[in-house]
Amino acid sequence: MNEKRGRVPNILIVGGGYVGMYTALGLRRRLRRGQAQVTVVDPRSYMTYQPFLPEASAGALEPRHVVVPLRRVLRGCRVITGRVTSIAHEAKTVRIEPEEGASYELSYDILVVALGSIARTLPIPGLADVGIGFKQVEEAIALRNHVLDRLDIAASTTDEAARRRALTFVFVGGGFAGAEALGELENLTQYAVRKYYPEISQRDLRWVLVDAADRILPEVGDEMGVYTVEELSKRGIEVRLKTFLESCVDGHVVLSKGKPFDADTIVWTAGVKANPVLADSDLPLDERGRVSCAATMRVVGHDDAWAAGDNAAVPDLTAADPGEVCAPNAQHAVRQAKLLAKNIVAALNGQQPKEYRHKYVGSVASLGLYRGVAHVYGVKVKGFPAWFMHRTYHMSKMPTFNRKMRVLVDWTMAWFFRREVVSLGRMRVPREEFRRAATPKT
Ligand SMILES: Cc1cc2nc3c(=O)[nH]c(=O)nc-3n(C[C@H](O)[C@H](O)[C@H](O)COP(=O)(O)OP(=O)(O)OC[C@H]3O[C@@H](n4cnc5c(N)ncnc54)[C@H](O)[C@@H]3O)c2cc1C
Repeated sequence: MNEKRGRVPNILIVGGGYVGMYTALGLRRRLRRGQAQVTVVDPRSYMTYQPFLPEASAGALEPRHVVVPLRRVLRGCRVITGRVTSIAHEAKTVRIEPEEGASYELSYDILVVALGSIARTLPIPGLADVGIGFKQVEEAIALRNHVLDRLDIAASTTDEAARRRALTFVFVGGGFAGAEALGELENLTQYAVRKYYPEISQRDLRWVLVDAADRILPEVGDEMGVYTVEELSKRGIEVRLKTFLESCVDGHVVLSKGKPFDADTIVWTAGVKANPVLADSDLPLDERGRVSCAATMRVVGHDDAWAAGDNAAVPDLTAADPGEVCAPNAQHAVRQAKLLAKNIVAALNGQQPKEYRHKYVGSVASLGLYRGVAHVYGVKVKGFPAWFMHRTYHMSKMPTFNRKMRVLVDWTMAWFFRREVVSLGRMRVPREEFRRAATPKT
């Protein structure tokens, strides 16, 4: 490898999410003192525990508790808050765009590509203007505020069309993110309307889940997917399968089937694609734009570049089809990151890296308070036990003792107190009040 005499090699990790943070933690633990410097670059100063975003959005968890501050957990590593815009691996440099000031180049010896994925969108008219994704904590907070704002709007307007539009919520894509976020938020609005909005009846709320496939939640298998559709339908949620969003200009929703309608809320959760920054790199990519890797997570053709997680095509050695690669999920990302750290240190020590091999064990999903669905190790579970499994599993996986305790305290408080139903939507315009006070009347 690249360990040059007299100079400590710099291991550069681009992306500080699951893979980035866990790889950095593993390296910090395994590297000998002075053996290498670890640098992590991410536009956010925190790692997001994405499986808890639906609960953060529903107010069951404090949003700050589902993120992990990188500088706090990665003491001893260098953390740069900025966006990598290109990777020139031949020259061993990346270009970094900080929040403020000019972009600059950063050199490295060993590269770890951990840029994750972004929403896979389609050129649907209106989507870019009115849609919102559900991958980031900012989106989860904004969506909570937006949904609760809609209840206030609907309860206070005399315009029937505006009211209907405010109370119509559309999710496109029924994977983990879509089904869980919709399940949690629908549950929240039912609660809020029952307790605090006498002007709105439960029947006025319209929740629509649209998916192009003939089932939802493929992660939990066919049978549990069918159960999920039944469970959501029983709650009055319209599940539109084999249906496409064709247009949503100004919130006017046109689906491939059924009558068009208006909605103030359109959430796009229809899958992910590899981070497009990779297209601005000289690394080998597969047909889906992911970094081509060996099972050791070494980038094909490069001894000093590694990749894992959603942005990497790592062969799935447990699959029947030898061409298959690991699916983009946290289960693989965390395990890959742990082995990746070991492999990088092994390579630095002149040893052989090991191949990644993990058979997908199944999934658990929450569909709102006390409701869930799971298919793990071949066992199918639904309702309260599945919801409980979801909580305990993710609690055990939540990084750091500090975060685990904070999550536990949030859940415990929820047993004793009513749900917090308040929108801080005005945070969008924090200076408005002061600006008004400071602007002299003319
Ligand atoms: C709502 C939701 C629920 C989910 N639930 C589950 C679940 O229950 N079970 C499960 O297995 N999986 C789940 N997943 C999927 C799982 O979270 C991902 O597979 C996992 O986060 C992938 O890890 P990663 O490190 O590859 O990417 P990420 O964790 O997304 O990390 C990528 C990092 O790269 C950073 N980045 C992006 N662009 C740049 C750039 N230009 N320069 C520098 N850094 C950059 C990002 O800020 C981010 O920190 C869920 C996902 C979502 C959105």
